[in-house]
Amino acid sequence: MPEAGLKEWLAALSIWQLQATERPLRVPALPAHSDLLIVGAGLGGLSAALHGLDAGCSVTLLEARHVGAGASGRNSGFVVPAPSRHTPDSLARHLGEAAGPFARGLQQASERLLALPGASPLRGWMQPWDSPYDPRALDTLARDWCRLGVEVEVADRQRLHRELGTECYAGGLCFEQGGQVDPYALVQAMAARVETAGGVVREGCAVLDIRAEGAGYRVRTAQGDVHASRVLVAGNAYGTDASAGTRRSISPLALVLATFRMPAQAPGDARMPFSDNRKDMWFFRTLPGQRLLTGCFALPALRGRRQCEALLGQRIRHLYGVEPDALEHLWAGWVGLTLNGLPRVDVRGERLIHWSGCNGRGLALSSLMGRLLVERLLDGPALGLPPSAREPWQGTALLGWLGRLAIALDRRRRRRGLAPAVTPTFVR
Ligand SMILES: Cc1cc2nc3c(=O)[nH]c(=O)nc-3n(C[C@H](O)[C@H](O)[C@H](O)COP(=O)(O)OP(=O)(O)OC[C@H]3O[C@@H](n4cnc5c(N)ncnc54)[C@H](O)[C@@H]3O)c2cc1C
Repeated sequence: MPEAGLKEWLAALSIWQLQATERPLRVPALPAHSDLLIVGAGLGGLSAALHGLDAGCSVTLLEARHVGAGASGRNSGFVVPAPSRHTPDSLARHLGEAAGPFARGLQQASERLLALPGASPLRGWMQPWDSPYDPRALDTLARDWCRLGVEVEVADRQRLHRELGTECYAGGLCFEQGGQVDPYALVQAMAARVETAGGVVREGCAVLDIRAEGAGYRVRTAQGDVHASRVLVAGNAYGTDASAGTRRSISPLALVLATFRMPAQAPGDARMPFSDNRKDMWFFRTLPGQRLLTGCFALPALRGRRQCEALLGQRIRHLYGVEPDALEHLWAGWVGLTLNGLPRVDVRGERLIHWSGCNGRGLALSSLMGRLLVERLLDGPALGLPPSAREPWQGTALLGWLGRLAIALDRRRRRRGLAPAVTPTFVR
């Protein structure tokens, strides 16, 4: 059970949702039949819907709450053209010859997302290296990514200082094709495109049950049934009712995000977003109005706003040498871990696919998966991802526990080298 603080942050609106204009729920009539039915209007479901429409299918997208209610409207908005927790070598070990097409697919998905409304014109995403820093190893890594088709450059201390506004890192990797978005604006723009192209987007419509019927499936909701020839379940870590399996197949881990108001001497906006390479990742992006977005994984020790403020405030002081003016807003969301760091695809019959497992880096990935899985449902080329067992993997609880332990140890080890966390005295 989440702690009280975490429960509140999981229920809070994200900064992106707060700044969006309120709009009424989309409640068009449900069609009796659809060639392709998608469960979940996050980035994965919306991207699948757009590909289905491009392929000439009639498309219905059913969303339990509203477009972007899950991780897609609550994330940090870093568009990263490389998978989480993988090096080119480990990717090749898992995917064999599919590693190159998969990596290039992620880069193309990033480029497509960054061409949509909601994307910042400022390009690039940086992965600075926390010690031990080995320039030769970084050169090799950059070369290996380039060999897979991902555009990466090694950045030295001066470049990191210029792009990120901190002198704390000696080197890192710059992914030129990455960038940053307002993720909620992005998914709203995608939903509008689905509607314009003739797709049905129905919000407030949880899918309760999916049963094989004739050559397709009967999809049951409290608002009525839809018969569908093909179904894609994209509930991810937010899966409930008929999509509960997408949540059970991964180990959900909560990630807390925060925005801080920063003093005038802190780096202004127009800095590159970044996440470093620690297990207990430090990640930051500047926002207009002299604000900074950052966050951390929610471990049991992180009980409330004050602990969160102290932990993140300490990181900000360490990186930028300034005290934040105030913690502005806190919220949290679920990310889904898998054992091998790759998404889980469950094929349940020829025309019903469930998938989940973005491992905290799912913007480009969800967009790519939406396209690949629709291609597969439409009898396109086989996907080069390892198939998963039909039943959820039994070790997800253990994986979650191990993940939290690794992050907690890393957090403790790294904090030793930092100035002590002070009880926050920020002006509110
Ligand atoms: C705090 C946080 C920060 C993150 N930061 C980044 C980042 O900077 N960069 C990055 O690449 N990734 C990031 N991620 C991960 C990224 O947000 C996700 O991987 C991605 O948004 C997942 O998209 P999705 O469409 O697969 O799932 P979701 O966006 O979670 O959508 C699933 C949807 O399915 C709906 N649903 C579930 N069950 C049903 C049902 N039975 N019937 C109808 N609807 C249903 C849910 O309501 C939900 O809207 C972050 C995640 C979090 C939580």
